[in-house]
Amino acid sequence: MCGIVGFSSRRHSAVGPLVNGLRRLEYRGYDSAGVALQSDGGIRVYKQTGKVGELEKLLKEKLPAAERDAFKMGIAHTRWATHGLPTAANAHPHVADGGRLALVHNGIIENYAALRAGLEKRGVAFASQTDTEVLAHLIAQFDKDDFLSAVTQALKQVEGTYGIAVMSMRHPGEMVVARKGSPLVIGIGEHETVVASDVSAIVAHTRQVIYLKDGDVALVTPDGVNVYTLDNAPVSRDVQEIEFDLGAVEKGGFDHFMLKEIHEQPEALRNTIRGRLDKTDGTAILSGLNLTPRELAAVRRLVIVGCGTSLHAGMVGKHYFESLADIPTSPEQAAEFRYSNPIISPDDWVIALSQSGETADTLAAVRESMRKGALVSGLCNVVGSTIAREVGRGVYLHAGPEISVASTKAFTAQVTALLMTALKLGRTRRLSREEGLRLVAEIERIPDLVGAVVARSNEIAAIAEKRCKAEDMFFIGRGVLYPTALEGALKVKEIAYLHAEGYQAAELKHGPIALLTEKTPVVALLADIPGKEKTVGNVQECRARNAPVVGVVTEGDEEAASHVDDAIFVPRTSEWVAPIVSVVALQLFAYHVARLRGCEIDQPRNLAKSVTVE
Ligand code: GLU
Repeated sequence: MCGIVGFSSRRHSAVGPLVNGLRRLEYRGYDSAGVALQSDGGIRVYKQTGKVGELEKLLKEKLPAAERDAFKMGIAHTRWATHGLPTAANAHPHVADGGRLALVHNGIIENYAALRAGLEKRGVAFASQTDTEVLAHLIAQFDKDDFLSAVTQALKQVEGTYGIAVMSMRHPGEMVVARKGSPLVIGIGEHETVVASDVSAIVAHTRQVIYLKDGDVALVTPDGVNVYTLDNAPVSRDVQEIEFDLGAVEKGGFDHFMLKEIHEQPEALRNTIRGRLDKTDGTAILSGLNLTPRELAAVRRLVIVGCGTSLHAGMVGKHYFESLADIPTSPEQAAEFRYSNPIISPDDWVIALSQSGETADTLAAVRESMRKGALVSGLCNVVGSTIAREVGRGVYLHAGPEISVASTKAFTAQVTALLMTALKLGRTRRLSREEGLRLVAEIERIPDLVGAVVARSNEIAAIAEKRCKAEDMFFIGRGVLYPTALEGALKVKEIAYLHAEGYQAAELKHGPIALLTEKTPVVALLADIPGKEKTVGNVQECRARNAPVVGVVTEGDEEAASHVDDAIFVPRTSEWVAPIVSVVALQLFAYHVARLRGCEIDQPRNLAKSVTVE
């Protein structure tokens, strides 16, 4: 993770753009932040633990406004620590060559211990515990005439992943950036060039961007950029014009991005669905998949890879693909899949789920699947992200930027997109036009149905108030609602720091029920779909152990409501849409529990949004 920004201008000070850029990237990590600024007089470094706001305070104190103009180039970083505690010493930028070289890094240098031992033998003293500092010293060892080749020589010794920006007083006015496995985008402005981990930190300056590819190294000056391979051979990369709504990354009157994004779901889902339903043939139009009916009909097995919330979406997808398209489907945790030497045949279709399109484990699973000859597509939110570009086919979610670390609208958009994909696949098989049309009508209603749940936020807050003091919670569901139980538990863990577990409703009695007391609330997914009666039975088992039960119940289903202590009502839907409306209720429940516990909702401890390390 980590956010990187680099700025190089002929006219403007780099200080403001670097700090503003870091603010946009703070979702990527926030345990410490730092900047290195270059002027004719040398490089100055400012680092601070905590969030970007703390770094800003430090700069205010130490760098008077009048002095800032001298620094027209700089690099900056907001960290999510992998190696070494989140201290000021471990914060980036890291310096070498007596402070004449500074570097920021996103990723992990896997052979850092061996490299560090070698450098120490040569008398290099280290100031931090990080893997990153090794790279700064390694580049310094080669840094003589040509800056670019100093960086490439060092990078050739490195195993692992990196997105880096580095500058050296031996080459004033030059910045070298490189990527392998971590994202890096370069914005080309007028007499200024901006580098960042994603476009949100660039769009305030320019809409003209170059997405670096893995293995690219670039020499950046205020007048533009030249891209090379690791062997210093020039390569050409297209400059693309991007669209970006800056308003979408502001809180817009809500207390938290998470609450804003929960409320945005009806609109986000409208955008996911727009133009993708065929009301004549009862199917979905997903042209980005770029697959002919013949290719679709040839698919024998589906593998859905993802991590965290995306994995839960994939687990819902399994039910869709198996029920609507009769295709055996395995949702797989991306890292486990990638390292399992997976069996893949040419008639397998691997669908990669990642909001950011940068998730390192998912990207690795994509590459392994492509290597083994599977058909691979992506289901990503961020347009132009690495997974989207590498697979070259897929379904964009169009949910708009998701800033809150805990995912909400991306999850419901993923599930909706999977439902449309299953509809399309189903229609190449046994799903009739009439069944297809019924599903089309239902998918069209999803945004309004979700809106009806969002409107119950206050009622859900009142129920959350009764349960927010608990230290343990269980979430239970069965069938298509089981992944929803897992997602509800994950939300509560992520943002309310409360121990929560999701279980198949039937599994609870095979052990975990031993933990139930009057202090362990159980949240039961009781939407009125096949299997509900059985879950009601499991609820009785919980209540017989004095556990208070919150039910997510279909409106008007008084019978189910009578079995729980508190009911959160969701609209009546088919079993396909039930996970979507139910999860929105659980998102709001988790949000209110976290708020009432005084937690920091948008940036929970230890987490980061876009997980670009393995
Ligand atoms: N490995 C580096 C560190 O711990 C960067 C971490 C990251 O990119 O997440 O400082």
